[in-house]
Amino acid sequence: MSSPKTTPSSTGSTQWSTVSSQVAQSIEQAIQEASDKLRAVSLDIHSHPELGWEEHHAHDALTEFMEKQGFQVERHAYGMDTAWKATYEVGQGGRTIGFNSEMDALMGIGHACGHNLIAISGCAAALGVAAALKKHNIAGKIVLLGTPAEEGGGGKTELLARDAYKGMDACLMIHPGTGGNGSGSVTSTSIVGFTVTYKGKSAHAGGAPEKGINALDAAVAAYVNISVLRQQVPGTNRIHGVIAGSENWSANVIPGEAQLKYGVRAPTAREVMDLVPRVLNCFKAAALSSGCTHEITISHAYLDLQPCTTLETAYQEFCKERWGSEGYDVSDRTSISASTDFGDVTYHLPGLHPMFHLPNAHGGEFPPKAPEAHQAALKAATGIAVVGARIVVDGDFAQETRKTWEKQMTDIESEKVIANLKDLLAPYRKQRE
Ligand SMILES: [Zn+2]
Repeated sequence: MSSPKTTPSSTGSTQWSTVSSQVAQSIEQAIQEASDKLRAVSLDIHSHPELGWEEHHAHDALTEFMEKQGFQVERHAYGMDTAWKATYEVGQGGRTIGFNSEMDALMGIGHACGHNLIAISGCAAALGVAAALKKHNIAGKIVLLGTPAEEGGGGKTELLARDAYKGMDACLMIHPGTGGNGSGSVTSTSIVGFTVTYKGKSAHAGGAPEKGINALDAAVAAYVNISVLRQQVPGTNRIHGVIAGSENWSANVIPGEAQLKYGVRAPTAREVMDLVPRVLNCFKAAALSSGCTHEITISHAYLDLQPCTTLETAYQEFCKERWGSEGYDVSDRTSISASTDFGDVTYHLPGLHPMFHLPNAHGGEFPPKAPEAHQAALKAATGIAVVGARIVVDGDFAQETRKTWEKQMTDIESEKVIANLKDLLAPYRKQRE
């Protein structure tokens, strides 16, 4: 990257129509040039799967990589061990675009969700925009956040609470999905994750069962209560959970302690708020009938994903124009029943979270470490990078994005939803140590 020869324009007077193709080309070129290095980082993370809040290896690999790209790197950012921040600024007074890199793996199945691809696509988008701003001498700032614990930990919710997204004009990230060649914008469900601990009293099941209070009975009763409830809730709702056993359980001892883990989902946070009290009643009724004490805590709570429609349209348009002729399938917005802590981000600033598909070949699906999956990630990363660059370059676009998002938030009464959900869950919140 060469240094700027003139003072960068600071307030977005640059006409997008005149620079868009050069900016997009510069972004794509920079990303493709970094492809091998990005792939090495991706494979490294893939072979070192780490659970949420424990992404130490990924934290180190990604911060080292971004530092080598000329970014200013903050390790263990915002008082969180595995969070990080990489910043790059050209000129002064330009707008700020944000990207996110997720890093955590899943219990038992490693990086099957492909967060190694999310991690490097955030880096790719950030370095792509940095190269373009520098080359075309446009003032602006790029902030890439390494966001821990997406899988049930809520790293982005923590980061939001610690003002990590403050100053960003918009924030974008991508997530892999199954089968095909293409991508598209998605919405995702709102979720509240519960852990319920029942405590009773152990006793010998043969000798003195009447002296015991059966905590497993409480867990089973709650499980059954919820199974009965399930038929009476809207078809788009999801209530799913497990009884967490103990290695010390044995058939001839009445269990003195048992635990439930549940996820309660609905398409929107508003609908989750209708469902949660009914599920809480199922938990509480089981404690009452079994005579156990119970403690309910929240492991995580994610709002639904609200893609900013201006960013969404720009992303679809770019992808269609760039790769449509090569059979890249850009789908309209779809709803998925998974959830992400990026939902919370989209309630606080304009955001976009498209899914890209890992291509199928030879009748099978490419795992997140295949070269084809890597290229699919880089394409989608190029897409969000171009939209992100447009926020920096094109003042009208940035303004329209803000206006559209504000209207979307007014329509769903976002502030009221956030406040009501907070009140509803407050008794069950436990501070993360
Ligand atoms: Zn995921």
